[in-house]
Amino acid sequence: MKKKIAAATATVASRPFVYRNRVLHCDHVSLNALAEGYGTPLYIYSASQISERFQLFQTAFASRPHTVCYAVKANSSLAILRLLGRLGAGFDIVSGGELERVRRAHKPALRKVVFSGVGKQAWEIDAALKADILQFNVESVQELDLLAARAQKLGIRARFALRVNPDVFAETHPYISTGLSEHKFGIDIKVARAIYRRATKSKWLEPYGVSVHIGSQIRKVDPFAAALARVTELVSQLRRDGHDIRTIDAGGGLGIDYSDAPFDAPHQVDRYAAALGKGLANETAHILLEPGRFLVAQAGALLTQVLGVKKNGSKTFIITDAAMNDLIRPALYHAHHEIVPVRQPTGKAVITADIVGPVCESGDFFARDRAIAQVKPGDLVALLDAGAYGMTQASNYNSRPRPAEVLIEGTKTILTRRRETIRDLMTTEIL
Ligand SMILES: *Cc1c(COP(=O)(O)O)cnc(C)c1O
Repeated sequence: MKKKIAAATATVASRPFVYRNRVLHCDHVSLNALAEGYGTPLYIYSASQISERFQLFQTAFASRPHTVCYAVKANSSLAILRLLGRLGAGFDIVSGGELERVRRAHKPALRKVVFSGVGKQAWEIDAALKADILQFNVESVQELDLLAARAQKLGIRARFALRVNPDVFAETHPYISTGLSEHKFGIDIKVARAIYRRATKSKWLEPYGVSVHIGSQIRKVDPFAAALARVTELVSQLRRDGHDIRTIDAGGGLGIDYSDAPFDAPHQVDRYAAALGKGLANETAHILLEPGRFLVAQAGALLTQVLGVKKNGSKTFIITDAAMNDLIRPALYHAHHEIVPVRQPTGKAVITADIVGPVCESGDFFARDRAIAQVKPGDLVALLDAGAYGMTQASNYNSRPRPAEVLIEGTKTILTRRRETIRDLMTTEIL
């Protein structure tokens, strides 16, 4: 499918990237200036957009006791964690490494951490117990036994929720769908009651909540309502069984629009809140929300310079200095990212090209057969909506240093990660 590049692309209000005087800006900072100051490839994030997205959740859920636990894996930049932590966010973590990031970025938020993930190790559980996190989202009986053992060893009671698998289909990419019984995630909701009962045998385990997460980049809100309705029913049963269930963790997964169509983020959050409300009915438990992508994806872009334009037979390739190691989503999920020139095109002339990186893989592409304004070597282009699952999935493949990152606060630019050097790449190696 060919996508037209609309001049309006970058002016859609759902993104902080706008043309001013024919140059793409992030809020009030020119991307030309950023390339000059920090080089390319460069990840650029708008602090105000992240705050605004967070506030949308705060507002939409204001009528219920709730905590927004930002999913750290979407973008684990310390600066972004600090920004969200100071706004009152909790965090959803999936590793001991992410726990340390929260500690470093905003220590008071540790008590608002939920620990998800299908394969927690003893050292990670120990660190989280000592940090007195809010709850462990447990994904198997074996993990629950391990949690009980570590809690006993350290003499610290563990608050836990079972992550149940509601067997709800979420209509997203197969790699990021998690709520069906065929997936590795969660515990079959039908056996959950028995496991809570079993847990009461250990005085080191405190049944505290129920959690669910059905997948990522979910655009329809009905699956969220269906999943929550099943969880809510389970919670009433658990209460009747005598468990003091305090939290319902609705997970994350709310999707954004990666295309150039207008996207009404506030409306989407309202619809999401309404769907969850429907699923929760009269339930009054403290609600935990774990948005990742929705808070940070559209706040970010990957700025890259065109290295060359090359023709092979009938095809045109635009080769950029960013590659799949910097942003793997197109290669991994066939994800679409809008790609816009930093200098606003004056005419309507477009070429059809593949936009690719220099990595030695045919899978190293950002777009295929994309209509894009004519660009030449040295020009800058921006890959939009790269704030989530961009830098966190970056690698050093082909011995390429990872990009620098900057956070824009209005007119101010803060370098939040310096560019990696070749020396950095080899520091852990032994010769
Ligand atoms: C990845 C993940 C999230 C965040 O998903 P988004 O699609 O980025 O909102 C939330 N909770 C859990 C358990 C996850 O694995």
